[in-house]
Amino acid sequence: MRETKSTCPYCGVGCGVIITSEGDQITGVRGDPAHPANFGRLCSKGSTLHGTATAPVKLHERLRQPMQRLQRGGALTPLAWATALDTVAARFATIAATHGPDALGFYISGQLLTEDYYVFNKLAKGLLGTNNIDTNSRLCMSSAVAGYKQSLGADAPPCSYEDFDHAGCLFIAGANPAWAHPILFRRIEDARRANPLMKLIVVDPRRTDTAEEADLFLQIQPGSDVALFHAMLHVMVWEGWIDAAWIDAHTAGWDALKRQVHGMGPREAARICGVPAEAIVQAARWFAWGGADTPPAEASRRAATLSLYCQGLNQSSSGTAKNSALINLHLACAQIGRPGAGPFSLTGQPNAMGGREVGGMATLLSGHRELTNPQHRAEVAALWGVDAVPEKPGHAAMAMFEAAARGEVKALWIACTNPAQSLPDQALVREALAKCEFVVLQEAFGGTETAALADLLLPASTWGEKEGTVTNSERRISRVRAAVAAPGEAREDWRIVVDVAQRLEARLRPGRPTLFPYATPESVWNEHRETTRGRDLDITGLSWARLEAEGPQPWPCPDAAAPATARLYTDFRFATADGRARFVDTAWKPVAEGCDARHPFALTTGRLRDQWHGLSRSGTVTKLWAHAPQPVVQLHPQDLARRGLREGELAELKSRRGSLVLPVQADARIAPLQAFVAMHWGEAVLAGRDAQGRLRAGVNQLMHGKVDPQSLQPELKHAAIAIGRA
Ligand code: SF4
Repeated sequence: MRETKSTCPYCGVGCGVIITSEGDQITGVRGDPAHPANFGRLCSKGSTLHGTATAPVKLHERLRQPMQRLQRGGALTPLAWATALDTVAARFATIAATHGPDALGFYISGQLLTEDYYVFNKLAKGLLGTNNIDTNSRLCMSSAVAGYKQSLGADAPPCSYEDFDHAGCLFIAGANPAWAHPILFRRIEDARRANPLMKLIVVDPRRTDTAEEADLFLQIQPGSDVALFHAMLHVMVWEGWIDAAWIDAHTAGWDALKRQVHGMGPREAARICGVPAEAIVQAARWFAWGGADTPPAEASRRAATLSLYCQGLNQSSSGTAKNSALINLHLACAQIGRPGAGPFSLTGQPNAMGGREVGGMATLLSGHRELTNPQHRAEVAALWGVDAVPEKPGHAAMAMFEAAARGEVKALWIACTNPAQSLPDQALVREALAKCEFVVLQEAFGGTETAALADLLLPASTWGEKEGTVTNSERRISRVRAAVAAPGEAREDWRIVVDVAQRLEARLRPGRPTLFPYATPESVWNEHRETTRGRDLDITGLSWARLEAEGPQPWPCPDAAAPATARLYTDFRFATADGRARFVDTAWKPVAEGCDARHPFALTTGRLRDQWHGLSRSGTVTKLWAHAPQPVVQLHPQDLARRGLREGELAELKSRRGSLVLPVQADARIAPLQAFVAMHWGEAVLAGRDAQGRLRAGVNQLMHGKVDPQSLQPELKHAAIAIGRA
């Protein structure tokens, strides 16, 4: 029996695991007691990871060899790796030569490792000359990134998990860590036991398990967060709970924001948010005073407030405004840069952070550089040894599929994600995939919705089989290690990219040294490290040998002999040109698709405790189905009664884009005229079409693709629907 240390591949908590294996079989998993994210604990998903490698239920069978489909809708036939790689290189080169490089697109994943991400980004931007590379991380944290950048100057969560132990007030908005980040919630429970005076405020349209634990629960209307945060600031200003001296010394933009929030008093916000004005005042008081019930004698001696937030803020057409409006509160009362204080975005996916570090998005470049900055483009071109990096921004996730549906993007390379289940506006996504001349899917699992629509499938290795690194919510970089060999002919993602890239180089740069000289993922890592030199995330002091010797480390870490940095902005100098944080005065805007008489219900979506994404991995573990055996629509009991529906009966949910039939479940924790459907189920699980021929593409066929104008993140958390008997 062998033991291998690695990292859980599910969520952004980034828990350390110890995999046990015998020969080529993973036999068990347990928490790594030495990992600073979880100290040995694992949640229901993490503790059953070994079951995904030995699952008797083969929901999404492993892909073991390259397969091609000679005609759309036809059967898959196997082909040799060399032929598959030649085919991808030839089709991409031909389409680029005929239509230009922007006819190519890459849609990759926050579950790829940093090294995979790096080579994909270099292939698209450095070799092929297109910035059309985006990722499902666009669905995850883009609004948090845009919020941090416009308020604090950099894409850098300033806090660490240790801050839970120092906070006097936890303000959780648009997140349900009890289900979605369970090990962090255990740490929150520990911190509350150690400090019974700590206050927990939860803001959410649903009374979640997290909300059940709150000292103050604000059950807001979907999309009303900015109004709430502005009203809290209004109260803080009115009551004198802000820290005027700190604002004066360390920020800019205060006067404009003060004017903005002047008209958003607690009574006005109560009308928009659907919560009592008194509760808004109480939330403002505890936020400003760090959970204390009496004001601190001196502003500088306030107890600390830590806010935690996730998709409820991010997956919104106002996602960036929501993030910045929350950061405004921290800046107004100096709740940042101290132990237990700061705005802390929780990462959904295991490596959404690592992907941004290498610039693996349509709007970014390596080392947190900006595509729109000519100096940054020149720096990256020099680092990569290419003439130039293209200037034109690429298509972000939704725009990429819209461009494909218009026939502008003609070839798509999708890796480690399932857009035919996970993107909103499924009709458009499927039209896009059908219109593309060539769709290649690089995946571990062969039975996903996207696999059914691809022309060529490349089998990839997955958790327990590959080597690399990931970055978790607190900027901590952990090693991912292989315990066993991948099944069949599956290969590591970075290796597949390099093999295609070298074939393309033979066509595009004949006779010149390769841009992809990597023999191991560590060699990719070392090149990536060098691109971060002098940047905010500098990790030049973080070798794999150091990660081996000292364990997971947060960035920045520029000095191999010095400790890494756990908390940012402790000197109150921010990452802006003048070192001052920025107040952002964006006004509240309603959701993109308002409810009306024809579509009176506000539909929200989210994760279940025991499942992950489109079920490819977690859905193979029998035990994990006990928590929620089937998809349902949850409605308030009043709404069932009004529609004459009984528990378990079938209801039809209709949006302006599609319809879905699901059993109803009464749940008084859902507000009246709202509905909740978990995001996990798609066509592959719901079995194709129902008796009337309607596509069972899961809840995302109902959601719209409207995006936040700054982050370009779609509003997956809200759509207007009608509900009636099926
Ligand atoms: Fe894995 Fe997240 Fe659970 Fe930790 S909390 S074990 S990272 S799913």
